[in-house]
Amino acid sequence: MAVVLGHDEPHSDGGGLFLVQKNLSELDAIGAELAISGKAPSAVYGRFRGFPLAATPIGEKSEYGVLVQIRHPLFEGERLDEEVFPWCEYLNQCAEKELIKISIDDGILWISIYPSFTKNPSNSYKELLNCVVEDLLSVGLDSADKTCHYCKIETAEELTYDEGRVGQICDDCMAERRGVQSAERRATTLGTAGALLAGVLSSFVGAAMWAGYWIVETYFIEWIWRDRDDVFIPSIITCGRAVVVGVLTGGSVGIAIRMIPNRGDKFAGGVGLACGIAATIGGELVFAAWLVARQSDYFSAEIWFNTLLSLWSSDFIGTMVRVLALLLAWVIAWDLAKPKVTPLGL
Ligand SMILES: [Zn+2]
Repeated sequence: MAVVLGHDEPHSDGGGLFLVQKNLSELDAIGAELAISGKAPSAVYGRFRGFPLAATPIGEKSEYGVLVQIRHPLFEGERLDEEVFPWCEYLNQCAEKELIKISIDDGILWISIYPSFTKNPSNSYKELLNCVVEDLLSVGLDSADKTCHYCKIETAEELTYDEGRVGQICDDCMAERRGVQSAERRATTLGTAGALLAGVLSSFVGAAMWAGYWIVETYFIEWIWRDRDDVFIPSIITCGRAVVVGVLTGGSVGIAIRMIPNRGDKFAGGVGLACGIAATIGGELVFAAWLVARQSDYFSAEIWFNTLLSLWSSDFIGTMVRVLALLLAWVIAWDLAKPKVTPLGL
C-alpha cells in the first residue's frame, strides 16, 4: 500500500499545523541527529545519505514535529509519484497511525512527522528517514548524483536553501537567478526620486484619508446619537475603526510608492514609513482644525493645540483606537513601500 497523503508546506496557512520559529537548540538538535549542518532562519539542511534534505519544525511550542523535504530531479514534473514506492511496513504503519504523512508535490518529497511521533521516545527522526531513504534507493534513485538540478550539467557540491526549499543548484545557475533578483531590486536615481515624490504627494492623500475618516465618523456618531441618551458600541467596532483608518491612510501612501519601479531596497521602506508618519500627523492636525472651525468663529493656535490634546486624552478607548490606527498606518505604509525580495525559485 502506498502512503498517499497531503503535505504541510512550511508556508501554508491552512492545514492545522503551522511553522513556528523554534529556538536554536531544537533546530540544532534535529540537525545534529541527522548530521546536516546547513542553517537557515527556521530550517536545517544538508545531504542526508546523499539526498538534499531540509527540516523545518512544525507544531505548537510544547509539542513539535518536523516537516522534512527531500529533493531529487525525478520528483520534478510528476515523473515519479507516491504510488511508485513500496513504502516499508514501518512507514505504512506510521502513516496509518497518523504519525507521519508522505507525499510528492511541487517537485519535492514531503514527509510530515507529527508531534505524536516524537511522543514515543523510542521513535527517532533518523531511523524514520533512513527507512525513507532505503525505499528511495530501492526504486533506483541515485543519491550520490551532485549534478545541478537546473542545468543538469554543472556540479553543485553545496546545497542552497531559499524560500523554504532546499536546492541542488550550481554557481552559474545561481548567479543567473541572483542576477534576475538584483535587476528586479535595483535602485536607480529615477526610482529613488520617484519614490520620494510619490511619498510626499501620497502623504497629502493619506492625511486627507485620516482626517476624512474622522470627520465622517463624527457626523455618523452624531446621527446615531441624534435622539438617544445611550448607545452601545461593541468593542469589535471600536477596534474595526482603527483598522479602517489605518488601512486607508497607510495604504494610500504605501500603494503610491509601490507603483515606482527600481525604488531601492531599504530606502523605499524608509520613505513609506516617514510619509506614513507625516500623513497621520498631518491628518490629525487637519481634523483638529476642522473641529475648531465648526465649534467657534475664532481660531487660534492655542485652541487648535488644546483640541488636539483633548482628542488624545479625553477617554482611554478613544486614545487606544488612535494609537492602534497610527501604528497600523505606519506599518502598512512601510510594508507596501519596501520592495519584495524575489525568491530564487528553487
Ligand atoms: Zn546549474
